[in-house]
Amino acid sequence: QRKPIVAGNWKMNGSLELVSEICSEAKKYNDLNVDVIIFPPALLLSEVVKNGVATGTQTISEFDSGAYTGEIHAQLAHELGAKFTLVGHSERRSIFKESDLQVADKFAKAQQFGLTPILCVGETEAEREAGETEQVVAKQINAVINKLGIAALNNSVIAYEPVWAIGTGKTASPEQAQAVHKFIRDMLKGYDEQVANALRILYGGSVNEKNSELLFAQADIDGGLIGGASLKKDAFISICNSAI
Ligand code: 13P
Repeated sequence: QRKPIVAGNWKMNGSLELVSEICSEAKKYNDLNVDVIIFPPALLLSEVVKNGVATGTQTISEFDSGAYTGEIHAQLAHELGAKFTLVGHSERRSIFKESDLQVADKFAKAQQFGLTPILCVGETEAEREAGETEQVVAKQINAVINKLGIAALNNSVIAYEPVWAIGTGKTASPEQAQAVHKFIRDMLKGYDEQVANALRILYGGSVNEKNSELLFAQADIDGGLIGGASLKKDAFISICNSAI
């Protein structure tokens, strides 16, 4: 049985005050059957660690230490207490022009330094309308498998986040999301049945306290990656409850 995950991606939002407000509730899930993870802006990482909630960075450098001004070093993030990192979030792909290959390098660097990568994948609205959803998602995942092999997915998580559903209020229906999650799991079964069955696949894109329960009830949806609603304590906690 796969343990569900509810992860809050704060993006470039939040404050010291929000960390203590949300963590005081979120840490109550530490002994329950759900992994609650907060992805704050990197500057707040240590604060989340101090407040007793699992945490990670929203992106990670694909490089080792060196002259890379402004980058986030995986080894240092791990040393500070991060357990996870997002890689390939659609905002990183579109705004910061990260390629599939670069995302695969980040995935590898995260694992090398003991972080569990959460690989974000998903199609744009135009790609969905052109019937290319499966092709796009497969290409994004295969970039990692081609570089590292299927075994690398053992210690990782995938988040399916259709770009058209992110921050738009247009959630994928539970059926639409489940169809893509099943496609991903079936595709991975073609490589290795055990890896595919154990892998947690999260849904992200306008998840809120009203739609989370039905989404998380789908056979291949193992929790969520929450943006906007993760900044509101009551909404986030109610989403955590719906995953148990
Ligand atoms: P929203 O929940 O605000 O749509 O954001 C989703 C997301 O991008 C999480 O990584």
